[in-house]
Amino acid sequence: MNFTLLVMLLKDLVILPFQEIKLELKDETSKKIIKLASKKYSSRILVVSPLNNSKEITTSDLPQVGVVAYIKNKMELSNGNIRITLRGEKRVRIINYEAFTDEVLDALVTDIILPNYASLNEEVMKKKLKNSLNDYIESSPSISNSILKTLEDDHDLGFLTDAITTFLPLNTDKKLEYMAEVNSEKRAVKLLNDISIQIKQNELEEKIDSNVQMNLAKEQEEYYLKEKIKEIEKTLGLNNTQSEEVKKYYEKLDKLNIDSKSKEKIKLEIKKLERINSSSPEEAVLRNYLDWILNLPWNNVSKENLNSPKVLTSLNKTHYGLDNIKDKIVDYVNLKKINNELKSPVICLVGPPGVGKTTIASSIASSLNREFYKISVGGLNDSTELIGSRRTYLGALPGKIMQALRKCGTKNPVILIDEVDKMVKDYKGDPASTLLDILDTNQNKTFVDNYIEEPFDLSQVFFILTANDVNLIPDTLLDRLEVINLASYTVFEKMDIAKKYLLPSIDEEFKLSKKVSIKDDVLMSLINDYTKEAGVRNLARVLKLLVTKIITSKNAKYQITKNDLDKYLQNENITLENTEIKEVGVVNALAVTNLGGTILRVEASIYPGSDDVIVTGSLGDTLKESIKVAISYIKEKGYLDSELLNNKTLHIHMRDTATKKEGPSCGVSIITVILSRILNIKISEKIAMTGEVTLKGDILRVGGLKEKLIAAYNTGISVVYIPKDNASDLKSIPKEVLDNLKIKLVSNYQTIYEDLFQK
Ligand code: ADP
Repeated sequence: MNFTLLVMLLKDLVILPFQEIKLELKDETSKKIIKLASKKYSSRILVVSPLNNSKEITTSDLPQVGVVAYIKNKMELSNGNIRITLRGEKRVRIINYEAFTDEVLDALVTDIILPNYASLNEEVMKKKLKNSLNDYIESSPSISNSILKTLEDDHDLGFLTDAITTFLPLNTDKKLEYMAEVNSEKRAVKLLNDISIQIKQNELEEKIDSNVQMNLAKEQEEYYLKEKIKEIEKTLGLNNTQSEEVKKYYEKLDKLNIDSKSKEKIKLEIKKLERINSSSPEEAVLRNYLDWILNLPWNNVSKENLNSPKVLTSLNKTHYGLDNIKDKIVDYVNLKKINNELKSPVICLVGPPGVGKTTIASSIASSLNREFYKISVGGLNDSTELIGSRRTYLGALPGKIMQALRKCGTKNPVILIDEVDKMVKDYKGDPASTLLDILDTNQNKTFVDNYIEEPFDLSQVFFILTANDVNLIPDTLLDRLEVINLASYTVFEKMDIAKKYLLPSIDEEFKLSKKVSIKDDVLMSLINDYTKEAGVRNLARVLKLLVTKIITSKNAKYQITKNDLDKYLQNENITLENTEIKEVGVVNALAVTNLGGTILRVEASIYPGSDDVIVTGSLGDTLKESIKVAISYIKEKGYLDSELLNNKTLHIHMRDTATKKEGPSCGVSIITVILSRILNIKISEKIAMTGEVTLKGDILRVGGLKEKLIAAYNTGISVVYIPKDNASDLKSIPKEVLDNLKIKLVSNYQTIYEDLFQK
């Protein structure tokens, strides 16, 4: 049957029967065709594809077969375009094309009559097609199998071929061939061929994919194996690609003269470093450890100077006096010369501040040609500060001893452990007992710091300890020490030190061409009126200050005068305690504090009250007891009418309330001050006393006599009462002090009573 349809030319696009396509039409001709077709041709058009792609198309370029398409949907868009959905209906043969208008063609077409195929053949073909399609879908995992559902119903071969052609990823030319082929059996054969090509293509793609994947997997495996080999080589020590750093560690280790066990252990640590990932935090910890252990002075020693005269000269050069410590060092040197194995003594220098404990220790080190290092342990309450913390702790470090040895770079330095009397025992441990292990020559040959973990020989270290108060050193530690007392200096000693040591060292420090001098009376005034101290630290400071001032002033000069003291030390002037005593009930007691000997003013008042006693002045319990004993002694002895104490309040006060007073040596002063107050007899400021008294008046031996007498002398006291039991101590008192003090040795208070109150 012939009929006419308007022609729509579709370039690069093919529509097959049963296929639906969506188009958006922009050009006016196409829009006109659609509109006309909808009106006059029951929404049907003839879709054809030109045989060539040239711009100018004539009817001879148009095919003889086209597809009738039904305009299923039509929508006019806001931009003026028309969107349509076309559904292919059937192939038609074109009889001829004619111009409908200038731009629009129409065509006279006729239905295609196909020959009758043997239905068996068709069935076989259909089955083959479906199977091939199945195979194709299976070979391409990314394709949906929804088409199989559409094809389940029984369709003729024509429909089947067109549906499958639409479904296959064929190019436009190929699809045009299918469109032009009106014979469905021929199309089916062609299609079977194309499907098998598609399947082959899919298989090939899959093979390529899996090959690529296999290659990748192989590469990964190779990488993994290479890494593994590296690990094994490292473990077996076969790795020759060591980093420079690791090489250096091995070199250092080789040079260390250290026992083989420790060496092996350190070697393992270096190996660990080689294996470790460089970005891991463990690496830094390990490296830190190796830096520590490989830089300890395992076998470096300073060759000791064992020439005793030279050692003594060297010590005399830096320090005045201090003969006991100098003798000790000379003895050591002489003995060491005989027995090279001799262990150095563990010396503890005890004395007030500024008497030269630290500086003599450093001088000992340089005279013996050993390195020197000072460790302060005042306030230390944690043993790990001395012996390190375990490596497993964050920020772990070796203890102060190992740190000192690394700094010194030798295993036989002089290590000064300063202020051992001020270590604190608390929940963190007992540093004193740790120190004991460090100092114990029986154990310290194999001292193990918690961090270092390997035994280090400390037996060649010369330890010198310092303390202000020997009573505060724990007994167990004290047992192991050779205590050497360094007493306060007298005024004349201080003058000597100033002239022979302090001034020359200032000259040297400032590199002065001329020596600075000071007359004795000026120096005496400087010591008495501007420095109140047991040692000479303050004296050294003010001397330096004065020298700086006079050599840099407008009229530079080299002699310190009394005027300079007034001018430059206005704020430093201190008048020593021993001012005149103008009233009854005031007495000088001699005492010792951490800062050396001192004069304590004891005062007594009595006034109507209710038989009570008030004590003030930061007194410890022993002093409070001394007061009770004194009162009982006075009452029993009948030195005064007991009535005088009835209905009275007695107030005992010790000046300098800021200092806590503990010692038991004030008994004599307390009895004296009460008697002075009640008997109304004044005691001279030139008199001072020390001694504890029993209930029967016996006077007991006291400690710190040297310090007390030096303080008495330095503050201008002329008579001192001391216990007879202390007589043997007098030989250690500087002559200058003995010459200037009248020392009265008393065994019972009765003597003092007779001296002072029964004149
Ligand atoms: P300490 O350790 O006992 O507190 P230092 O050793 O620090 O005292 O000494 C303080 C200052 O006094 C230093 O400048 C030191 O040189 C000086 N000095 C102390 N004693 C003497 C002395 N006997 N001879 C020379 N100078 C001394």
